[in-house]
Amino acid sequence: MNTRLRVAVQSKGRLNEDTLRLLAEAGMKVDAGKRTLLVEARNYPLEVLFLRDDDIPQTVADGVADAGIVGMNELAEQGAAADVVHQLGFGACRLSIAVPKETDYTGVDWLNDKKIATSYPGILKRFLESRGVHAHPHVITGSVEIATGIGLADAIFDIVSSGSTLVSNNLREVEVVMQSEAVLIAHPKLSDEKRQILDEMVFRFKALQGAAGKKYVLMNVPKGALDSVLHELSGIKSPTVMPLAQEGWCSVHTVLEEESFWEKVGRLKEAGAQGILVLPIEKMVL
Ligand code: ATP
Ligand code: MG
Repeated sequence: MNTRLRVAVQSKGRLNEDTLRLLAEAGMKVDAGKRTLLVEARNYPLEVLFLRDDDIPQTVADGVADAGIVGMNELAEQGAAADVVHQLGFGACRLSIAVPKETDYTGVDWLNDKKIATSYPGILKRFLESRGVHAHPHVITGSVEIATGIGLADAIFDIVSSGSTLVSNNLREVEVVMQSEAVLIAHPKLSDEKRQILDEMVFRFKALQGAAGKKYVLMNVPKGALDSVLHELSGIKSPTVMPLAQEGWCSVHTVLEEESFWEKVGRLKEAGAQGILVLPIEKMVL
């Protein structure tokens, strides 16, 4: 039988869609529509195990799955013995302590003897210990944000992304305890064959992430304006300059961060660039 790498992913929830998109863009077709627990990729030595995210770290640590895609927060909470192989750049959030808006929060000492509602008691306890605070974590599995409003706790420790949930529950974020994003984790001891499959996966993920937020930009430049255009592009890794069929003109190609594009394009026009084309970049292998 051919070796396959078994990767545990979230079966439904916030990470599911981005995870399956990442695999698809990396050329690993998984028929998630089937909703079976275990699905083989059609064109890659991979089988995907669909689980609740809580179960992913331990499944990988036990070696039932060879690798997994899960939030760093979940791995940290469980302290499972799995290696973080690669950060995937989605599912970004932070774990923070928040208190009712009107609280006169003076610093971590305020938390002494307070009751803190959370679904992440492990991370919270480690944080409190590291700061020498004696508080009482109170574990609830959902709707942590309403705990102070209903008198269940004095503070909460929960996932925050935009912060709008905190605002709508009259809470104020006072301590950011950890930053998290989705990570690829792996069993510490994989066979050489499985390690190779994993390495190839990481290589493809890097190529996709390398292209994220970048655009391929082409422009026509009269030779007299070439120096000023190249000056505007200084700091960018060596643009390509090619002659055009029309005498006295050349074409300049480069890669720009999408974020800085609008700011740069005005200056490029001023410098003499014309016919500026912007194309998406799918993958970038460095
Ligand atoms: P499961 O049913 O698989 O146990 P869940 O309800 O525990 O799912 P989700 O809400 O789907 O978990 O979140 C999965 C992960 O997504 C979180 O552990 C976290 O890493 C990440 N995440 C990113 N942004 C947010 C957010 N705003 N709220 C919750 N999780 C977020
Ligand atoms: Mg969960």
